[in-house]
Amino acid sequence: MTNARPAHPPAPPADSARLELFGLPLDVISLDATLDLLGGWMFTQSRAPHTVVTLNPELIVQSRSHPEFANAVQVADLVTADGVGIVYAARQLHGLEVPRAPGFDIVAGLMKRHGADLRVFFLGAKPGVAEVAAQNAARDYGITVAGVHHGYFDLPEDQRVADLVGASNAHLVLTAMGGGRQETFNQYWRQVLNAPVLIGCGGVIDVLAGTADLAPAWTRRMGVEWIWRVVGDRKRWNRAPRLAQFVTLVRAEKKRLGR
Ligand code: UDP
Repeated sequence: MTNARPAHPPAPPADSARLELFGLPLDVISLDATLDLLGGWMFTQSRAPHTVVTLNPELIVQSRSHPEFANAVQVADLVTADGVGIVYAARQLHGLEVPRAPGFDIVAGLMKRHGADLRVFFLGAKPGVAEVAAQNAARDYGITVAGVHHGYFDLPEDQRVADLVGASNAHLVLTAMGGGRQETFNQYWRQVLNAPVLIGCGGVIDVLAGTADLAPAWTRRMGVEWIWRVVGDRKRWNRAPRLAQFVTLVRAEKKRLGR
């Protein structure tokens, strides 16, 4: 459990450890170092807000036609590699092996480390799902539930929801409303959300609730859980072309950069 309360939040990784992929930043940071950094941010007196993005190929592809998504990633305090697609791109474009720090592993790791000290707000997924996720997380990790809200509301309701989160005094806000939307929401409302760590984490609330399965351990070890997700979920079949598009994009970018 974390009881230390340093007055100032620890600094994000040095600039030298930040790469650029298609005009977006990527921090070269391991899962353990991510957990250390976020732990420091959450338990400082200042409670300054920080946004965390777990970058995946779909978000890169979407950012190219949605400048507001790109901006939310560009100004994020930490951008980790969610999966093997990003590791591949960093290898091709920078010749570097970047460690992965996927959204689920970050969230589960923080819950395991900080238990009851950690106040978590669950924001996202279909009505009723965040409640189940919160109950399960409280049972399995002993965390404190700061609040829950589903992720199906329109832009005019953003402020009401942000106010609700802001009043909850959470350390950690899990914003799971789909790639792009969740990052722009966290960035736009960061001051109102009033929590030291705001993380966009896709299907994590569904996994915690048991309404979506975590990809099998072997796919996660190999960093290929996206294959399992695309094949196993009809809804995602239309996304496979986007992943192929990503490989084409990486190849073209490599050529453009002369690498
Ligand atoms: N979701 C949401 N509001 C929306 C769209 C999606 O809360 O308007 C939730 C959805 O129920 C799921 C999560 O966001 O729990 C991730 O959705 P999806 O798999 O579509 O997004 P991804 O993160 O893979 O882009």
